[in-house]
Amino acid sequence: MAAKEKFVEPTYLECGFGELEYKVIASEICCRCGTCEAFCPRIENQESRPTLIDYDPLCGLCFAYCPRTFLNMEDMEKKLFSRTRSQDEALGIYRKAASAQASPVQGTVQDGGVATALLVQALKSGMIDCAVVTGRDENWRSVPVVATTPEEIIAAAGTKYTITNSVVGVAEALERGFSKIGFVGTPCQIQALRKVQLLEEPYEFGQEKIALLVGLFCMENFDYDTLFSGLIKGKFGLKPEDVSRFEIQKGMFRAIDKGGQVHEVKIAETDPYTFKGCGPCFDFASELADISVGSVGSAAGWSTVLVRTEVGEKLYSSALSSGVVKEKALSEKGLALSKKLSAEKAQRFVEKSQELGVSEITR
Ligand SMILES: Cc1cc2nc3c(=O)[nH]c(=O)nc-3n(C[C@H](O)[C@H](O)[C@H](O)COP(=O)(O)OP(=O)(O)OC[C@H]3O[C@@H](n4cnc5c(N)ncnc54)[C@H](O)[C@@H]3O)c2cc1C
Repeated sequence: MAAKEKFVEPTYLECGFGELEYKVIASEICCRCGTCEAFCPRIENQESRPTLIDYDPLCGLCFAYCPRTFLNMEDMEKKLFSRTRSQDEALGIYRKAASAQASPVQGTVQDGGVATALLVQALKSGMIDCAVVTGRDENWRSVPVVATTPEEIIAAAGTKYTITNSVVGVAEALERGFSKIGFVGTPCQIQALRKVQLLEEPYEFGQEKIALLVGLFCMENFDYDTLFSGLIKGKFGLKPEDVSRFEIQKGMFRAIDKGGQVHEVKIAETDPYTFKGCGPCFDFASELADISVGSVGSAAGWSTVLVRTEVGEKLYSSALSSGVVKEKALSEKGLALSKKLSAEKAQRFVEKSQELGVSEITR
């Protein structure tokens, strides 16, 4: 890892893995995004937690890019949007909001298939040369995939409601020589990759090759072992391989089995399976993405889309003009509901961060 030539004021350089371990991993606020493992060769995922496997040169990289060590949203917004949000922008800064649907829908998508369609469009148009997506095995264990064909992107469609260290796929893409990398993921993963792109830290490993960030809406995520042993097997009596789809709709968490039978509980009853590291997160709508996609606010089979940056606008416009995505107006009611959920997550963050003593993440 070569140091950049320009002088950069050292900020978190003295903070090594010890601080990350103490402040984030042992404190159980780690969101397992995979960023520290991705960009530091001395950190590996062992037993589902970042682990130091070599001596620590105290370079500070893991600490600097972790979305849970510090995050100054005002600073990030100024860098990304040249302004900070106003008080009524509960979903973060965006240029356009719409309901959209892939045309035709390809793959077993979650909602409107827009995340998949946008990535395929980005690949076909040359905006990206690969897309880091989150696929799964037959037991619903999620896996990061560096997709290089539309078919591979389509194969990864659909939501896996389990924590995944997908940012490691970006490191794999860099190692394999890709130079225009697209990524789709949860708000914490998008925060981490924006830190990688925008913070003026003295590390250089090809961050300029990250070309597109598609963010997902996310209220919370779940721990695989806890969710599958406690709820899927324990309460629903299902084997993971018998589930064809998971969804969260109208306040219910649902597993639909391969025979089409719906097994459901109220979302409030899923609290015991929620991943602890999701607590100190205020970001519902992937506010630092180029373009965000979610289900809330749109009709079944459609996606809510927030176009945020110039990159996002270029991609969305080309998807519309080439007909791979169609859109309709996002209703006032849909927008209000999305804003309400975003505000609720922000409020939960205020409570949790006080409880957990997280003071360096500020919105
Ligand atoms: C953990 C989680 C929680 C969510 N919670 C909400 C919510 O509360 N409200 C809401 O409106 N929407 C939520 N979403 C988003 C929603 O489920 C859909 O992903 C979104 O509407 C896009 O739908 P689509 O049909 O366009 O996506 P698709 O075209 O089906 O593509 C989905 C993409 O998501 C990626 N992906 C799947 N699982 C994961 C994962 N675990 N981590 C990272 N990337 C993944 C895949 O790579 C795929 O490319 C959540 C998503 C996740 C992953």
